[in-house]
Amino acid sequence: MTTHPVTTGDPLRDPPRDPLGRYSRQMRVHGVGETGQRRLASATVLIVGCGALGSHSAQALVRAGVGTVWLVDRDIVELSNLQRQVLFSEADAIAGVPKAIAAAAALGGANSACRVVPHVADCSLDFLRNLPARPDLVLDGTDNFPTRYLLNDWCAEQGVPWIYAGAVGSEGAAMVVPAGGPCLRCLWPEAPQGADVGNCETVGILQPAIAAVTAFQVAEALKLLVGAAPTRGVFTCDVWRGQYLLQQVADRPAPDCPVCRRERFPALLAAPTEAVTLCGRDAVQIDPGSRAPIDLAALAARLDGAVDDLRRTAHLLRFAADGCRFSVFPGGRTLVFGVQDPLRARALFDRWVGAHGGAS
Ligand SMILES: [Zn+2]
Repeated sequence: MTTHPVTTGDPLRDPPRDPLGRYSRQMRVHGVGETGQRRLASATVLIVGCGALGSHSAQALVRAGVGTVWLVDRDIVELSNLQRQVLFSEADAIAGVPKAIAAAAALGGANSACRVVPHVADCSLDFLRNLPARPDLVLDGTDNFPTRYLLNDWCAEQGVPWIYAGAVGSEGAAMVVPAGGPCLRCLWPEAPQGADVGNCETVGILQPAIAAVTAFQVAEALKLLVGAAPTRGVFTCDVWRGQYLLQQVADRPAPDCPVCRRERFPALLAAPTEAVTLCGRDAVQIDPGSRAPIDLAALAARLDGAVDDLRRTAHLLRFAADGCRFSVFPGGRTLVFGVQDPLRARALFDRWVGAHGGAS
């Protein structure tokens, strides 16, 4: 009679005797080791944006054993995201699940030891100032420069390092911004404007460009978190041409950078923008702020019979009216799809969602 080893307990529920064992291959890498792995486990990383960049970097950090990952994203999953946004399913797109929620659900199955906290919200100054603690590191997974400059200025003010990353077409760029600079404003004092910037809608985006820039971003994140010196310079790539470069930049902050001199943090002084056209999307976000919070149950009751396809999910209220689709989140932040003009979106918001919503 052969004997088989008896398995007792559930490995997914019982604490393993060797909690670091799952990271054995990573700990063997020069520069990580057991000390580095323990540092990762005690670290908190804020990932801003759960689209293509954010879903790649979040997956890598959670699997690497980072202890706490905060995810913030303002959007919902759509079918056109799935080509490159690796944490989402067709079911998420059909149900219009908020990206932060869908990402956290997918990540929970990859590493139950990591605490993933989703925030369905705009990454505004208000949001950053209301975080429960200061993160050890911020990763840029955004698709727009106003948010990047906000991260730059807020991180500099708080003394938190962050890692810029962006990709469009077959190209990408990434750069570590250490706590003491040089910062993004040292290289480019102001955010590039509108027509200067291609986006996923006009130029498209290849998944390998995302993979390449997030490979740089995540490697630098792991180095910073274990206490190794980051790579200096701007990483750029064009995956279609097979070009991967590290462009050198000055080691020290630009002498006239107001942020690195701690004289002025321009993005922290700007008034919040209520209506924002989403990058590469036929959609506008309206965020009325906390002045007049909207109760979703009351709104659903008011709209019943006046709009089409009215649906309440666990996270939002969806409906169609005036040829546009609306997703209203608790509190009132609203995505209006089918419109690019912020003024038109604001008028539609006032008609259907605002204080007089559903009265027409
Ligand atoms: Zn600077």
